[in-house]
Amino acid sequence: MPRQSSALRAALLFLAATIGAPSLVRAQRTIPTPASILGFEPGADRHLPSWKQIVDYFAAIDRASPRVSVRTLGKTTLGRPFIVAFISDSSTLANLEHYRQIQRKLMDPRLQVANERQRLIDEGKNVILVTSAIHSNESGGFTTPIVLTDRLARAEDREARDILANTIIMLVPSQNPDGVDIVGDYYRSTLGTPAEGRDPPDLYHKYVGHDDNRDWYAFTQPETRYTVDSLYTPWDPQIVNDIHQQGSNAGRIFIPPYMDPIEPNIDPILTAATNGLGMSIVWRMTNLGFTGIGSNASYDQWSPARQYSLYHRGARLLTETASARLATPIDISFDQLGAGRGYEAKTVSWNFPSVWPGGKWTYGDIVRYQTAASWALFLDAAMNRRAWLEGYATQGDRALGALPAWGRDAWPSAIVIPKAQPDTQALRRMIWTLQHGQVEIRESTAPTTVDGKTYPAGSYVVLTKQPFGAYAKALLERQAYPDLFDYPGGPPKRPYDVTAHTLPLLFGVDVAHVTGAAPATGPAIKEMAEPTYTTALSGKTTKRIALFRPSASEPIDAGWTHWVLDTYKVSFTTITEKDLAGGAPNDRFDAIIFPDGTLGGGGGRGGRGGRGGGGGAADVFAALDAFANNGGSILAFNSSSNALIDGLKLPVKNVLAGVGNNDFYAPGSILAVEIKRDSPVARGFTATVPAIWFENGPAFEISDPSMATAVASYPATGNPLLSGWLLGGSKLNGKAALVDVKHGRGHVVLYGFRPQYRGQSMATYPLIWSAIQ
Ligand SMILES: [Zn+2]
Repeated sequence: MPRQSSALRAALLFLAATIGAPSLVRAQRTIPTPASILGFEPGADRHLPSWKQIVDYFAAIDRASPRVSVRTLGKTTLGRPFIVAFISDSSTLANLEHYRQIQRKLMDPRLQVANERQRLIDEGKNVILVTSAIHSNESGGFTTPIVLTDRLARAEDREARDILANTIIMLVPSQNPDGVDIVGDYYRSTLGTPAEGRDPPDLYHKYVGHDDNRDWYAFTQPETRYTVDSLYTPWDPQIVNDIHQQGSNAGRIFIPPYMDPIEPNIDPILTAATNGLGMSIVWRMTNLGFTGIGSNASYDQWSPARQYSLYHRGARLLTETASARLATPIDISFDQLGAGRGYEAKTVSWNFPSVWPGGKWTYGDIVRYQTAASWALFLDAAMNRRAWLEGYATQGDRALGALPAWGRDAWPSAIVIPKAQPDTQALRRMIWTLQHGQVEIRESTAPTTVDGKTYPAGSYVVLTKQPFGAYAKALLERQAYPDLFDYPGGPPKRPYDVTAHTLPLLFGVDVAHVTGAAPATGPAIKEMAEPTYTTALSGKTTKRIALFRPSASEPIDAGWTHWVLDTYKVSFTTITEKDLAGGAPNDRFDAIIFPDGTLGGGGGRGGRGGRGGGGGAADVFAALDAFANNGGSILAFNSSSNALIDGLKLPVKNVLAGVGNNDFYAPGSILAVEIKRDSPVARGFTATVPAIWFENGPAFEISDPSMATAVASYPATGNPLLSGWLLGGSKLNGKAALVDVKHGRGHVVLYGFRPQYRGQSMATYPLIWSAIQ
């Protein structure tokens, strides 16, 4: 470097600062520290940042650093700003649209001109989406993004320069900003009390609590839609860094590879890329002295509900760091460490290379692990940029090409969706849902015959040969979950989540899978607007409806019920056991709904953020008994029906009570039923293939047919499984799935399933509306 006079150097520095060049001097002088904005170091014991503090930090860094550009994507469910920070070299950020166009062309070879592929790979950036803190009691998740941003905005070291030069990072500091404050406010209000470090009694997302990361193909919540519409759809990133936390007593962090099974529509490039990247992170972290890292454990790669990117060209690196008690430290001795699923935390193994010695575990440790894992991910993405982009482009080529990609010869060529459907709202929702996930929908230009049935020209057609054809196929076909057991002859191996996601069955929409030549079609049609959802109860006050939740905690199924009622503009009042303590509330309500897990001992799957149960005291059943006798309607979903059978001594028996997993197992599957169409409860039910969402539910036998009617029953013979996994299905043959029980002048409707499952099982919503009318 030529020698400069001090006057010249001063002039250059002044000039650089004035024109905003990203000079070292400017960066060092003006980047505010996180502590200067938050008032404490990120990760300090007992100091959770509020959402406002986090937004203030990102606003300040946006002003101060040319490497960070913050955008607001919209308002959350409860009205908070939902933000993303784009982080890269200042020159890349100044030309973001240019790089986005490269990304688009690599994603879709139809947009490339001849011989352009190599130039695009030479020039393109490795695009990384970070979705952090979708689960708000995983407090490191909304803290680590601050530490990462600070380091990338400030650092001049080789690693940071490589990352900034080769990647574009889209950092969502919280996928659920409302929950940052729902959890944080409760935490701050309970500091120093016995409740310090506990989850709040309310769901940490108004409607869906912990299920907010089960929404990545149904897109029911605005927060999901912001990330899909503003980040996934325009960019289709190569890598998603999904930052989570797990329990405290096994490994310190989980990093992929995932456990089996792998959903077969995922391009194997992404499975291999996920495995390679995960192992690269484990290696780098181990170099730095991090211990207790587990892989190939607990988490599988089955459901698109959690992993949108795996169907949209991006590897998903889920990390799950051990939790403390929010921001309160815990102590775990080595002896207290136990087994994770797939490893033992006291023993080294290939997928758990070093044990953590035990001791104090803090919020700061969580942030340290999450930061190290994210940094290692960024480094791999930077170092291997070319390989990532080549794999990305190859996925695009074979989604559209004739390559024999992972068994595609056995695929249908197209799926026809007839326009004549029993439920037009459901049809519209299905088209909207698919298009929202970047699926191209076309219309046939000639009649198409499938299995002897002819569909007229103008029918909707989904070609599987299209950029996201595998995603469409995954959602439109029936799932065949493999029979997996812990060991030969042992119990079934529990899936991480549910096993089915077949939209035509959930929505009650007819489709036909075309094998052989694809039908002739026109161009992709324009995006359809989401339907306005209505029922006969919408906007009416003729029926006074109560939705029950226990006061101690709100089960997630109650939140989903709330969401369905709000979405259909059905007015209701939330009640707790206190509202029933005074006796039958017939003067206030005509119908009371008990979602799964709200009644009885909490047998339902409340999940984290809502444990269920608590509403089963004797006075509650006395009030309900009188309520129904006086003409009220009681609706009980899934496990809550068991509590009502016992509590009201109903003439119905759950035949699955006491049956073990070895004899019967259905951990989230879609099952066939037959509907008694002349029952008043079945009024409005239209699906051609009647199907219910079954997950740890009861199945009923009626002991007094004069008092109870089976509105939905499992087939008398054959396997009732339509999609997912079912062991011991013969136990269901001839049993009832939905029972209408007369009770005095009123009635009790028992659902052996969740009729409003995660806002998806639209086909069975009419079974709710009709039971109320
Ligand atoms: Zn989580």
